[in-house]
Formats: sequence, C-alpha cells, structure tokens
Amino acid sequence: MRIGLFGGTLDPIHIGHLRSAEEVWEGLGLEQIWFIPAGCPPHKDPEKLTPFSHRIEMVRLAIEGTSHFHVLPIEGEREGPSYSVDTLSHLALGASQDQEFYFILGSDAFNELAKWKEPRRLVDYANLVVINRDGEQWSLVEKTLKDLFPEYAPDEKKRTFSAPGKKKIIFYKVTNLEISATEIRKRRRSGMSVRFLVPNKVLKYMEEHGLYVKNPVSNPNSVSQWQGSSSEMAALISDEVLNNKGERVIILDVRGLSSVTDYIIIAHGYSVRHVQGMAENIRRDLKKLGVFPYGVEGEKEGNWVLLDFGDVILHLFLEPLREFYDLEGLWSEAPKRTVEEK
Ligand code: ATP
Repeated sequence: MRIGLFGGTLDPIHIGHLRSAEEVWEGLGLEQIWFIPAGCPPHKDPEKLTPFSHRIEMVRLAIEGTSHFHVLPIEGEREGPSYSVDTLSHLALGASQDQEFYFILGSDAFNELAKWKEPRRLVDYANLVVINRDGEQWSLVEKTLKDLFPEYAPDEKKRTFSAPGKKKIIFYKVTNLEISATEIRKRRRSGMSVRFLVPNKVLKYMEEHGLYVKNPVSNPNSVSQWQGSSSEMAALISDEVLNNKGERVIILDVRGLSSVTDYIIIAHGYSVRHVQGMAENIRRDLKKLGVFPYGVEGEKEGNWVLLDFGDVILHLFLEPLREFYDLEGLWSEAPKRTVEEK
C-alpha cells in the first residue's frame, strides 16, 4: 500500500494543503494520505501556536467524508519537539511489508531541510514528494537537492531522482494555490473573511472557538508593562513607524466597531527589506519601553507584517499589497487620522 504523509504545523489546515494532497494522491496513485499535524514544531514559537487539540480537530473536520484521507495524532502524543525524521522512522518501523511511504512537502519546506534534524535520514524511511509552492525558485530547489543529496541522479522518468539503497525524491507539480496559514491568521486578526480558503466546517470551528481572532496570552512574562492608555500606545507606535520611514501612516479608531482591538495602524514600506527592517526596529525599540507584541505574523515573507500589541494592531505592508488588502476600505466606518512628521 502506497501511503502519502502530509505533515506540518497545519495552523490551520487550508485548501492549499488539501488540494495538493489530493493531486499527489491521484497523480502518484497513492492509496491513502495521512495528515500528521506537528505537536511541537521545532522552528516555531510554541507560545504562538494554536493548541494541538484545535489543530487536529480542524484536520478531522476538513477531511470528513473523504475516505482516502486520514489524520494521525502521533506527534501530539510524543514529548519534545516534533522532528519529521523521528516520525518517519517510527512509522517505518511499525509498517507492514507492503506499506511504502511518500512524505509530501512544499518546495519552501524542502529548501529549509538543512535546518531540520538529520535531513539525509528522511530518505531511509520514505520517498520525498516535493510539491511546488508559489514564490520558490526552481534554482534554489536544485541547489538544495545537490547540496543535501549529491548522490541522487535523475531517473529516466523526468523529475524523479534516485540513489542506490535510498528512497526516491520526486518533484511533483500541483495547482499553484497561493494560500498560507500565516495569511489566514492575519486575515482573521484583521477582521477579513477566510471563507473558501478553508473548508466551511473548519471556518465554523474557528468561529465557534474564536481562533486566530485574539492572541492568547500564555506566558505572563511576555505581557506588556505598558501603563498608559491604548490611544497613547497607538501614538507611540505610529511615531516609531514614522521614525523608521514608514509611508502614509494612518491610525484607525475601531473602538466600538471591533471587539478585538482599539486601534489599527497601517503603513507601508518601499521594499521587503524595508518592511522587515521596520518590524525589527519597532519591536526592538518598543521592547525597551516594556511593550511587547503578543503575536507577529509574516516577518519572513515581509510583504505584510502584522504586529499585534493587543489594544493596538500594526500592519506594515509593501505598497502594492496595501492596496490589494485595502484594510482602510474594510474599516471605512472607523475615524481615521493620518500621522505626519512633526
Ligand atoms: P505557515 O504560513 O504558518 O508557515 P503553511 O501554510 O506554510 O503555514 P504548514 O503547515 O507550515 O503550512 O505547511 C505544511 C506543508 O504544506 C509544508 O510542506 C508546506 O510547504 C506545504 N504547503 C503549505 N501551503 C501550501 C500550498 N498553498 N500549496 C502547496 N503546499 C503547501
């Protein structure tokens, strides 16, 4: 039996995951796909993670009625960080003779493999199926393949690579759906719709449990020491944005319109580096004043970074994305103030 394994934080599972899994299942003639949400992903801050029980339940709801999709809670049952190599070796050891595993991962994850625990051992236990993810350059994927798996050579079948005594590495093209869990969390946090980005039942579950709307404060040490009002905090943060050359800085007063926050600050930068630099500097400078964000989303991509300070949420965009998401339009009823240099 050929079984696809789809791991990841899945915070939350979305249509990008589900559709890719379906296409791999069909295209490679697999019998089943097992979704394996990470218990404690090694590269993510555990405090910022949605509890495992919610993530697993959303997978359950997403795959309901799909008999070839299954969910495996094994990573939640293990103590410590969830390393894929441990999961794969565990599954391979317990597998029956006729079971063959295909570990599915996006090209973004493949390009980060060098940071994983013992990445070269993955191919002792499972074939790797690398699917294309928007924005990932093929040249980078080829470099990862060469650096990490130099003994692999292309088969006569295009895009399949093999090495003696090892499982295969297969590059498989799926429909490019530019959806990420980060974007879903940011949309929810901004009061935007995520309908049709996740299955309906998952959306309902999120709504019932208030997921991704307000960041939980799980560590009392990370609570801001801020003693002032939320409007003073908004003024402080917007000044910081200006100091960092943020463009068109506006403050939306959403008190009475949002149950989640008091002020939304929007600004943009002229490059990804500028946006990332602003986010980094603002975090560093505010920390000195005892103001910490509860959550930060999108820093790595740098085209929409959300810094959640509780009563104030700061959105730093790359200019075209600011127009695309149009948060000002979404909150058009909120009193708006443009902040300018004094
Ligand atoms: P985040 O934005 O929080 O990093 P994500 O959307 O990338 O989340 P993960 O749970 O980290 O989702 O990803 C699990 C696996 O699914 C990874 O191998 C990732 O590359 C892949 N993946 C995620 N989104 C897509 C997508 N839209 N298309 C194809 N593969 C995807």
